[in-house]
Amino acid sequence: MNKLSIKDIDLKGKRVFVRVDFNVPVKGGKVEDDTRIRGALPTIQYTTEQGGRVVLASHLGRPKGERVEKYSLRPVAEHLAQLLGGPVEFAGDCVGEEAGKKTEALKDGDVLLLENLRFHAEEEENDDAFAGQLAELCDGLYVNDAFGAAHRAHASTAGITKHVERAAAGLLMEKELECLGRVISDPEHPFVAILGGAKVSDKIPVIKALITRRVDKLLIGGAMAYTFFKAEGFTVGKSLVEDDMMETAREVKKQAEEAGVELLLPTDHQVVDSYDPLNSRKTIPIEFTNAGLVGLDIGTETAAHFAEALRGAKTIIWNGPMGMFEEKPFDEGTIAVARAVADAADAGATAIVGGGDSVSAVTQAGVADRITHISTGGGATLEFLAGEELPGVTALNDK
Ligand code: AMP
Repeated sequence: MNKLSIKDIDLKGKRVFVRVDFNVPVKGGKVEDDTRIRGALPTIQYTTEQGGRVVLASHLGRPKGERVEKYSLRPVAEHLAQLLGGPVEFAGDCVGEEAGKKTEALKDGDVLLLENLRFHAEEEENDDAFAGQLAELCDGLYVNDAFGAAHRAHASTAGITKHVERAAAGLLMEKELECLGRVISDPEHPFVAILGGAKVSDKIPVIKALITRRVDKLLIGGAMAYTFFKAEGFTVGKSLVEDDMMETAREVKKQAEEAGVELLLPTDHQVVDSYDPLNSRKTIPIEFTNAGLVGLDIGTETAAHFAEALRGAKTIIWNGPMGMFEEKPFDEGTIAVARAVADAADAGATAIVGGGDSVSAVTQAGVADRITHISTGGGATLEFLAGEELPGVTALNDK
């Protein structure tokens, strides 16, 4: 990594502005899943151990520039205090007098969390004056540990870096860049990518980049697959498709063929009758799909084909569920793929999983600890793997 690391800067006695990704699900004032908070602990603990004064900032949800109580980070501060086993100060706004006073009162090793950055529209507008106000809360030191937000040029991820002396990557950010960087620069073959989810449009750049980088096999599941099928003239019934992506799907298929990339689509799927969804679930071959059916998950034969395709792989990346993962039993295909990825990792593959649903699937399947790297980014991971520049990374100082 050619970017400055938190380990390269002297933190002692300094207020350090640390951009983290605490965009976690909160219900009834309680954090429901603290994976992202735990992900930032190494950087927070490193900073306090070095005698730095930690000023944490994050977004949560989409409050669209207004104060919306359900998107307050206050419950996150309480949860973080439990994880750290020590107090976490909270400032009710991310800029202004209270934030200024509270950050100035910090002592070496103290931790403070600012209120949701997106309560101010200026955050997403990357407003320069707002970025300057954020920078005033630290002593010239900025650390970005929010890989999941690095694909956006916002005040706290990009603009702020112009107002500080040093802008460095946090430990989680460094780990992400190293792991993902290795995959795109020098993947060990056979290299297999699994892509799923609903939107082909989101994944086209990464699919194209993977083909160019000579991925050996491309496994496509989820609703995305129906766009490919419909583009080939298959009946997909009432399954979810992106009608404006047909031409693109045909183009991708042709590119894969020309590059010698094996493109695997489902051969069977779990469907329901759109008129009787609760009682009509069955698994059928793709070509038996009629106009009234909706495909909601890959079938058992497809799951077995995909597992077979993963056997012997040396590099695997996976992003996106194989079906409507949130609705049981349409999580079965995704869970089966999670197990197959873990088995391949046990057999020596470097396996990288990114994106909310795929990460939940490896956790639910109980195989998370067998995966080489679980990426905290969704969109950021895809953009990075597609070879695109991440503004939040570009803005950091070079080593
Ligand atoms: P994406 O944001 O493109 O990664 O898509 C994730 C979403 O795709 C999840 O909410 C899934 O429920 C949904 N999804 C995946 N496969 C299907 C399917 N066959 N039918 C409907 N939704 C699906």
